[in-house]
Amino acid sequence: MKSLRDIDIKYLKGVGPKRAELLAKELDIRTYHDLLHHFPTRYIDRSRIYRIAEISSDTAYVQIKGRFVSMAVNGEGAKMRLVALFSDGSGTIEVVWFRRIKEIRQTYIAGKEYVLFGKPELFNGRFNMVHPEVESPSATVTPTGMRGVYPMTEQLRNRGITQRQMFQWIQTALSQSTAVAETLPAHVTKPLSLISLGEALKQIHLPESPSLLNKARLRLKFEELFYIQLNIQKNTRSKHNATPGFRFNRIGEYFNRFYFEQLPFSLTKAQQRVIKEIRADMCTGKQMNRLLQGDVGSGKTLVALLCMLIALDNGTQACIMAPTEILASQHFETLYSLAAPIGINIKLLTGSTKKAERDTIHSQLDNGSLHILVGTHALLEDNVTFKNLGFVVIDEQHRFGVAQRARLWKKNSVAPHVLVMTATPIPRTLAMTVYGNLSVSVIDQLPPGRKPVTTQLCFDENRQEVYRSLGRQLKQGRQAYIVYPLIQDNEKLALKSLEDGYQTICEIFPNYRVAYVHGKMKPAEKDYQMHLFASGKASILVATTVIEVGVNVPNATIMIIENAERFGLSQLHQLRGRVGRGADQSYCILMSNRKQTKETRQRLEVMTSTNDGFIVAEADLKLRGPGDLDGTMQSGIAFDLRIANLATDSQIVQLAHDAVDKVLDSDPSLTNSENSILRIQLESIYNKTVDWSKIS
Ligand code: ADP
Ligand code: MG
Repeated sequence: MKSLRDIDIKYLKGVGPKRAELLAKELDIRTYHDLLHHFPTRYIDRSRIYRIAEISSDTAYVQIKGRFVSMAVNGEGAKMRLVALFSDGSGTIEVVWFRRIKEIRQTYIAGKEYVLFGKPELFNGRFNMVHPEVESPSATVTPTGMRGVYPMTEQLRNRGITQRQMFQWIQTALSQSTAVAETLPAHVTKPLSLISLGEALKQIHLPESPSLLNKARLRLKFEELFYIQLNIQKNTRSKHNATPGFRFNRIGEYFNRFYFEQLPFSLTKAQQRVIKEIRADMCTGKQMNRLLQGDVGSGKTLVALLCMLIALDNGTQACIMAPTEILASQHFETLYSLAAPIGINIKLLTGSTKKAERDTIHSQLDNGSLHILVGTHALLEDNVTFKNLGFVVIDEQHRFGVAQRARLWKKNSVAPHVLVMTATPIPRTLAMTVYGNLSVSVIDQLPPGRKPVTTQLCFDENRQEVYRSLGRQLKQGRQAYIVYPLIQDNEKLALKSLEDGYQTICEIFPNYRVAYVHGKMKPAEKDYQMHLFASGKASILVATTVIEVGVNVPNATIMIIENAERFGLSQLHQLRGRVGRGADQSYCILMSNRKQTKETRQRLEVMTSTNDGFIVAEADLKLRGPGDLDGTMQSGIAFDLRIANLATDSQIVQLAHDAVDKVLDSDPSLTNSENSILRIQLESIYNKTVDWSKIS
């Protein structure tokens, strides 16, 4: 039987080559398979007819039944539009078409009854509907009255491709694919009572009942998550077994001297546990790839240092890479003050390191006398070579792409152990799906004595009050951050608001020195300003998000974030982590305006209700989807899910994960005949995509 993946969509009745091209371009639909996997994003109850008087600003897609009472063409040329009034006795709504005006005027008859299907929008204080679908009341409905709403694009709508058209194509394709080939073996579907693919496709597009729709969703989500994880795990399992690594069995002088003579405090329980986990990895003889998650301020740097010391004790070198120059310098200073006293040679390499120093670093790296190298992506350059690099730490993982990371661990003939640290906690479901079997360690505890930051949402009318709170902190000798958003596409405007803010603050607090930094500054200038603040000479730092990562000024107890609605949740959490680093009560004030969407308000309320980075990250994922969370996605690896949702389907992620484990435990290379479907599917899904196992 010919696979649905092989039948071109242009052969479907009513499609043809032109529309096939459009579908490919707009929705990536090229084959019967693609079309059948173009799922409704939601369902509306087709048995429900709204009254126009009921429509409110929360109304999504609705159906209304009534008559056109007038139709007139307004405007000229590009601004020409057809405006009709549609009335159902309870009220009247304006209906607008910008295209196909002539055709529409000829088709629809004033006074005749129609059902309109569309999304009411508020425009100039009244509701209208732009390009609704128009049907006669007798148009078919499904037995339950549920009808899917399909993802569409502006282009498709403009070319007259309607929801109904899409639905009909899919029904035609379904009726022609009488026996949809099963894509999961029975030994996977049976234990979970999953319905067949054919049945699932039928029900997802034309549900006979809500419970059958649920079964269809479960089956399709499971399949999607199953293959993603099968692909990752099949590769990582074989890689993990194949990549030999250093065996760091010794705990030697560096570690012990530091631990017993230098360590200024005792480790938290969480730090101890995580170090144990990492140590265990370093002794297996396989290369370690571990993700270390820990909320801002949880003490990841110290964990990294202790692990690097173990690497030194076993005769190798170590390096730590940070995403910005400021953060790299700060790491360097911290590590230097901790490690230099016990005779460790540690140096900083960034884009602005002078030639003479650079030369020293290169030669010391080559002869092995440099123990720890701290730096930015300057470390990735090919001329940076080590005598024997055994341990790599990458901080703030989401800033680096996969390919960049891979370059680091190619620097040695034996692949060094890799510890990736992130303060943006990746929710478990996401980590599991994206990283498969990558090991994850979590520091879920803050050092003792920290008081949770108090976060408040304030509006323009509270501004004087906010400045008074700020004044109180300054008077007590504390320091403050004032943060402005980077406005995308309009850096001038962003800079202006920063400069205005700086002026205002200087005027209100004439007795305090104010420093300011932004991304467009020269590094030297930036360093100077940062230093003013870090050394306590300046009491206030006015900044754009350049301060987001790493800056450590424990005396700073208040942060004001302007236009907080412009920041992502994880970003807000990162920023907030800059205060609350000392023993004093700290405050984070989110400034916003009252004109907010519901989503924005929810976002900001997450911040005021919790200090827990994991809850923030989960909420972020729910509100925004996973698109932005992880470096692998930023670096351009498409990670599209058609139906599953990592935020809400964590149970299915787990089911799929367990099923994959079971399959691979008994047949790691999928050679058994009962797994031939799996092999064929994997090939057809992934033959063009990137090898995920390279992710560290
Ligand atoms: P992050 O996880 O955000 O990188 P850091 O490693 O910068 O956190 O640690 C934040 C602060 O907490 C640092 O000033 C560090 O010295 C301090 N710290 C780390 N571990 C402990 C501990 N066990 N007890 C007390 N303070 C600690
Ligand atoms: Mg840190």
